[in-house]
Amino acid sequence: MDKEKILDLFKSTGALQHGHFRLTSGLHSSEYFQCAKVLQYPQYNELLCGEIFRHFHDWRIELVVAPAIGGIMVGQEVARQLRVRGVFAEREDKTMSLRRGFEVKQGERVLVCEDVVTTGGSVLEVVELVKARGGVVAGVASIVDRSREPINFGAEFFSLMKMEVPVYQPDSCPLCSENVPIVKPGSRKVDPSTK
Ligand code: ZN
Repeated sequence: MDKEKILDLFKSTGALQHGHFRLTSGLHSSEYFQCAKVLQYPQYNELLCGEIFRHFHDWRIELVVAPAIGGIMVGQEVARQLRVRGVFAEREDKTMSLRRGFEVKQGERVLVCEDVVTTGGSVLEVVELVKARGGVVAGVASIVDRSREPINFGAEFFSLMKMEVPVYQPDSCPLCSENVPIVKPGSRKVDPSTK
């Protein structure tokens, strides 16, 4: 899939929105990306994860581990295509853990899957968790890479798309100075609290 086709998919499903957004960080942006909006369509999830499958299909992956919640749909679909087990890690008292009887076997070759990598924090925690359980992290994959600096996962990192998102401090936001109405991500309503 070329980048243009992927972007079209993001836009047509509403995963990628253009406008004037107030992010949870308090920063303003002209773009908002919600990966779940495209992954909710199984056929698109299959298509996007197919790229991850193609990249790693001959890497002898034996297990896919994804950080909850964002990574679950990607991890499950990649595992399905690779015909291997797919599990997810979740936070238990703030620590990333494997619950529900999920296991990493000694020496098992693992692919860590995420929807969007920004700081890489959750993925790094999963990488450490897998290693602590005796697994070998063979690779890391995500649909979108929004990191600003290269992240060292200690393994090959593959993403379908690198996306730079412009963010502004509220007092120096060009959209604010143009009086563009601001919205909270996920809603189409104007956010009155920042007007
Ligand atoms: Zn603004």
